[in-house]
Amino acid sequence: METVNAEKQFIVTEKREIGYKRLLIAPGRKGFHFLQDLMRILDVPYIDNIVDIGGVRVETRIEHYPPIVRDYYDPPKFYFPEKVRTFCTNSGNAHVVRERYATNRGGDQWYSVNGHAFAPDSKHDNGLVNFAILKTVRFTAPPLASGQAFAENLGLQAALMGGGQPPLMQRVGDFRLGSRSKEASFSGGDLYDFEPTLKSCCPGDISLAIPAKILRAIWKAMKNLDTIVPGVLHPSTIMYYPEIKLYANKPAYQDERFRVKEDIWFAGDGAGTSRGGITGAWASGIRSAEGILDTL
Ligand SMILES: Cc1cc2nc3c(=O)[nH]c(=O)nc-3n(C[C@H](O)[C@H](O)[C@H](O)COP(=O)(O)OP(=O)(O)OC[C@H]3O[C@@H](n4cnc5c(N)ncnc54)[C@H](O)[C@@H]3O)c2cc1C
Repeated sequence: METVNAEKQFIVTEKREIGYKRLLIAPGRKGFHFLQDLMRILDVPYIDNIVDIGGVRVETRIEHYPPIVRDYYDPPKFYFPEKVRTFCTNSGNAHVVRERYATNRGGDQWYSVNGHAFAPDSKHDNGLVNFAILKTVRFTAPPLASGQAFAENLGLQAALMGGGQPPLMQRVGDFRLGSRSKEASFSGGDLYDFEPTLKSCCPGDISLAIPAKILRAIWKAMKNLDTIVPGVLHPSTIMYYPEIKLYANKPAYQDERFRVKEDIWFAGDGAGTSRGGITGAWASGIRSAEGILDTL
């Protein structure tokens, strides 16, 4: 879908125009530039001051995180002070992956990490676990800075530091010594006890890339986590940076069913009605659908 004509009630796709009576738009996180453009076209007021950032993806051996992943496939999130939380845990046949984004201010590319897991399989299980640890940043003093632009700038900074190989990765052992990780920290030998799953990252010093306040909050949360799950701060544990969750600028909804215009509703991660999880995205879709049903 390329755009919407709300007055004449049709959408434009790359192939044709399609009429509608009620329209639900849920393009996910990757569609947030699209949604932002749409809000301008539809004249939907929005705020753009919140972003989930920080964030590092932590990868470690399952033995360092056992009580958490033994009983739950996707364990509950841990919430820490200063709006820091764990998020999206993967284990067993788990991998860290790289996602590419482009800014809508010139199209410069930056990268975020993410994580996923394949179904357990004794041949391919790597015995690793990964999860994100993110901080929510909200700009509150007028004039409000754009959370999206701030996050993108941090992504660009990390891409710059990674040379041709962003994102960045650093072992906890190196981080604690205040030293950057080098190739030797990742290329076998007996210094560390597992290899990274996202080998294409640039070994580096994440503390050079993360704003101090965000880094302090995240490191404090990780130390707290290590008191709950001793071992997670093993020197071999890897921190990948950045993990950034972008949401569309938050629309001013007309009601609690996420209606934005007479016949148009939004839902899902892209619209900020959920915050990066299948369950929340699903629930927000149901809520919008109920709003649509109410009008039929
Ligand atoms: C690697 C990875 C791992 C994840 N792991 C977990 C997990 O373990 N647990 C969990 O709860 N969540 C996880 N998530 C998050 C979860 O996938 C999302 O929260 C959820 O899918 C959001 O649903 P959504 O409907 O908002 O968007 P999406 O599922 O992203 O769906 C949006 C759809 O809209 C389409 N679209 C976008 N723009 C347009 C357009 N202009 N026209 C037409 N179509 C368009 C997209 O192609 C896509 O199909 C993970 C995400 C990723 C990327």
